[in-house]
Amino acid sequence: MIFEVKKEDTATKARLGRLFTAHGTVETPVFMDVGTLGTVKALEPRDLAALETQVVLGNTYHLMLRPGADVLAAAGGLHRFMGWDGPILTDSGGFQVFSLAKMRKITEEGCRFNSHIDGHEFFLGPKESMAMQRVIGSDIAMVFLRWAQVSKDQPHAEGQLVFGIVQGGVYDDLRRHCAEELVRIGFDGYAIGGVSVGEPEECMYQAVDASVPYLPKDRPRYVMGLGVMHQMAECVARGVDMFDCVIPTRIARHGTAITRHGNVAIKAAKWAFDQGPVEEGCECYCCRNFTRSYVRHLLACGEILGLRLLTIHNVWALNRFMKEMRTAIADGSFSDWKEQVRKDTTKNE
Ligand SMILES: [Zn+2]
Repeated sequence: MIFEVKKEDTATKARLGRLFTAHGTVETPVFMDVGTLGTVKALEPRDLAALETQVVLGNTYHLMLRPGADVLAAAGGLHRFMGWDGPILTDSGGFQVFSLAKMRKITEEGCRFNSHIDGHEFFLGPKESMAMQRVIGSDIAMVFLRWAQVSKDQPHAEGQLVFGIVQGGVYDDLRRHCAEELVRIGFDGYAIGGVSVGEPEECMYQAVDASVPYLPKDRPRYVMGLGVMHQMAECVARGVDMFDCVIPTRIARHGTAITRHGNVAIKAAKWAFDQGPVEEGCECYCCRNFTRSYVRHLLACGEILGLRLLTIHNVWALNRFMKEMRTAIADGSFSDWKEQVRKDTTKNE
């Protein structure tokens, strides 16, 4: 079994589930932390375990450039290389090829491009992407762009699940067509792509609504690149189970804390004397032991610990939020809870 739906919400399409991977069971809905280069920035794997992170993401494009397939193969895959024995999901690299690399040429076989680091020439197509994800040894691999069938036909790492990606922008008929074609090929899970790339919130929900009805109930659904609390709650209400985003680690580096009541700029001068924790009532290591005043001081001085403490808080804030969400689905209060989340998290905006 790949995915078990434990409970469906009666008022919405939210569902409580379990995803079974080669490195453990994932409770869904889940938020996954991004570890682009084989590290969730500033955190150790034991921090991630303590923060109840369930899945770490690796980026195929970045890992292909550095450290490269040979180094990862010598290590026996990314789990051993980075010392994380929980589930790992890898993207296909397609998105970064288009957003970061200097493109040379796109053919039926894939894309020839130059590394954004040193200009070195690479080729990435469905075969190369799946081969790289096989070397990485991820528990969940994503297919490369529109080459779904070729990607599916490649050999996989042992126990590796492969997810298809529903494309189609804001066009309902394209989404439906793409979803039906992918289901015909048959994947272990389905991502809804091209969402959360700066479009208005309503378009994002429309893309989800246009895709979900055509996806099988016994497979997980994943919206890539989304980590805003009320938006994740809205997507879960529409039948989505998985999310990932660089938000918790990225905004920590900018001195911003994610809280259940909106984002707070801890770097701001107004916290200089504040003796409260980063977030009232938060039980993370940062909030149990340090004041806003101290964390602000560390950030202001560019101390590594400030970044680390705020990252610990932010990762916990989203993991705790998903836990809260799963509890709400379990006890039948999801709809009310979702409304409360919208009120709580958007009032500072
Ligand atoms: Zn905290």
